[in-house]
This record gives sequence, structure tokens and C-alpha cells, in this order.
Amino acid sequence: MTDEELLSKLEKAVEACKKCRLYKNATKAVPGHGNPNAEIAFVGEAPGYNEDQQGLPFVGRAGKLLDSMLNSIKVNRESVWIGNIIKHRPPENRDPMKDEVRQCSSFLEEQLKVIKPKIIVTLGRISLEYFVKSAKISEYHGKPISYKGRVFFPLYHPAAALRNSNIARILSEDFKKLPKVLKGELSAVSLDKKGQEEKDEEQMSFI
Ligand code: URA
Repeated sequence: MTDEELLSKLEKAVEACKKCRLYKNATKAVPGHGNPNAEIAFVGEAPGYNEDQQGLPFVGRAGKLLDSMLNSIKVNRESVWIGNIIKHRPPENRDPMKDEVRQCSSFLEEQLKVIKPKIIVTLGRISLEYFVKSAKISEYHGKPISYKGRVFFPLYHPAAALRNSNIARILSEDFKKLPKVLKGELSAVSLDKKGQEEKDEEQMSFI
């Protein structure tokens, strides 16, 4: 199967998914969209109202801001991949629950295995903490991170930038670094050790 076929098979599985409660109130599933061989994968949190209506990621106001930032660095939306951790819209856009993340994230992991992006751009706190539990967005936004063999570039969520002009300014400055991150011109902070320390702590609290 080609990568395109593998992704579309996963999309069908997402559309049929009833593993958690979220499908019940959703209009459409939002599996993710873009280039199956993208070098950059953008990962947000969960679909909002417009995404739920259209079945496509980042098509509302936050998506328009993402588009304009992509334009500012001359990157075409169709050349990247855009998706979310959660594939059905949580009611009233509430934060996803732990069990919802646990049940849904295997889709994203399978998608990333097919796409094999050079960089995963996490949009917002929930996406960053899903991949790198110990990383706080206030500390790591705009700084490439290497962790468990992947490179992440954490950014504030575009929806947060729409609410706060200070965050909007930071997000637009961070975004402009993306071409350099892609070329490997900004060295990544390794968080492997930090992650390991956390794991050790978790185990200690068990003993
Ligand atoms: N916010 C997200 O996190 N994802 C979307 O697809 C849209 C808004």
C-alpha cells in the first residue's frame, strides 16, 4: 500500500471510531489532512465547531491564522500535514479527558508512523504535553526539542493568539524560526534525560 492509501485507511478507521464518548455529539470526525510525505506535521488539540462541520482540521479562525503564518514563511498548506490529538470535537470545546486521549492517540501515532515528518510542530499546551509530558509551553515555545528520537517545535496555539495580543506577537516570532528548524540550523534541546528522570520519579512514588 502507498502512504496515501495507508493514511486514507486510517482516516476511514477514525470516521468509524466509537472507542470513546466523543463521537456521539460530533457531526464529522476530523482525521487530519495534508501531504502523506510532509516534512512538517502540525498537531493541535481537538476539532472545534468549524472543523466538526467540515471534517477538516484548522479551518476556523485559528486555522486562518495558521494559514497566514504559513504564507508568511512561503509554505503551502498542502505541502504539510495538519492534524489533532483528538479526532472528534469535545462538547463546548472542553479540554479532552485523559481516557479520550488514551483511546484516540493511537490514530495519531499510526499517522505519524506513515508520514515520518522531520518536525512535529505542537500547537498549544495539550499537544506539547501529550508528546513531552515534562515540557511547559511557557518555557519551550519557539525552541526545538529532541525527545525519543523525534524533533518537536512547540508553539502557542493560534486560538490563544486570537485572544491575547502578547501571545500573538510571540507566536508570529516563533513561527518565523520554522524554516531554520527544518534545515537543522537551530539546535534542539534534548529532553530525553528529563523524561527519564520523570519516569524514575513515577516509579519511586509507586514503591
Ligand atoms: N483547534 C485545534 O486544536 N484543532 C483544530 O483543528 C482547530 C482548532
